[in-house]
Amino acid sequence: MHHKPSIYLDHAASTPVDPQVVEAMLPYFSDIYGNASGLHQQARASARALENARQTVADILGCSPREIVFTACGTESDNIAIRGVAWAQKLAGKGNHLITTPIEHHAVGHTIDQLCDKFGFAQTIVPVDEYGLVNPADVAAAIRPDTVLISIIYANNEVGTVQPLAEIGALARERGIPLHTDAVQAAGYELVEVERLNVDLLAISGHKIYAPKGVGLLYVRQGTPLLPSFTGGGHEHNRRPGTENVPYIAGLAKAMELVQANREVENKRLTALRDRLIEGVLQTIPDSHLTGHPTQRLPNNASFVFAGCEADAILMHLDLAGIQAASGSACTTGMPEPSHVLTAMGIPHRLALSALRLTLGRQTTTEDIDTMLEVLPGIIQKVRQTTNT
Ligand code: PLP
Repeated sequence: MHHKPSIYLDHAASTPVDPQVVEAMLPYFSDIYGNASGLHQQARASARALENARQTVADILGCSPREIVFTACGTESDNIAIRGVAWAQKLAGKGNHLITTPIEHHAVGHTIDQLCDKFGFAQTIVPVDEYGLVNPADVAAAIRPDTVLISIIYANNEVGTVQPLAEIGALARERGIPLHTDAVQAAGYELVEVERLNVDLLAISGHKIYAPKGVGLLYVRQGTPLLPSFTGGGHEHNRRPGTENVPYIAGLAKAMELVQANREVENKRLTALRDRLIEGVLQTIPDSHLTGHPTQRLPNNASFVFAGCEADAILMHLDLAGIQAASGSACTTGMPEPSHVLTAMGIPHRLALSALRLTLGRQTTTEDIDTMLEVLPGIIQKVRQTTNT
């Protein structure tokens, strides 16, 4: 029987829930289900699970449990952080100037755009270089007396470039300006110790790190001005009211524990596979280019552009061959516009429309990579022929 492979290379879009995470969640659906705010036995059991999860996460981030806010996703964490600090700073008369980059996820970029378009804020977008790297000196130069928040993505979701966040954090700290980072893609691979990074707000999403969709967290350094976007029953120290999703929060904590325990070994394994893939593609496919930084990139990200190709055609052929991949970010797939990330890196319009993002994960094997390397050159050739006629 002909066996078609099923190879999943879209871990930046989402990951499968780890069986150990499922196991950690299971008790909190039908056995321990009390509302963690209550006083009875069921409620206390839920509250204990919630606080255990909070402590686990706080230990990994190197912060106090009080500084952890559980949310429903990475998007929500980014929104609560950016809106909350911008509003609080403005109300305190500190100013209305925000600093960010052109390669943020829309959860950050569109939030800042709305604050500027509708609520009287102004933004400076510092440039990135051809690799998608921010120069800390550019951030320093953008700071004004009325700057109230800096938001810089830790690792980019399309090209995997990892920013020199600690350095940017140090200069923000020196000037007393809160720094927010979207660590949604970074959290599965890079260190998230908030002291080392010098960050004041840090967003994480469960489903990118083998926990379920629909749970996330936000670290908020004690003393950071933050006006809550939600109002309600006072949960999460009023920063994100709403009855806590105890099973998902327990799952998120377990997922972070697993990342932490396996980070070094897994990063090494993934880096070797990633580099095998990158070298193989660049050697076998003419006119192929790596996007993002060659070394300062996530260990699971291999992104390319292929001159003369249309990304959707590549994805369709790959899917027919049993290989699941992405073009730009999942959220923009289907739009005919080139990715704002690649555009900001100076990649021309047409070339940017040929982007292929391959993101590896825990189940990815050497055989998967070699199958990909066997299949991709032919697909690119076929797509180039059809695009040109
Ligand atoms: N930020 C980045 C960098 C992302 O890659 C994503 C997801 O694609 C998000 C934020 C949004 O996270 P969530 O899907 O949990 O809302």
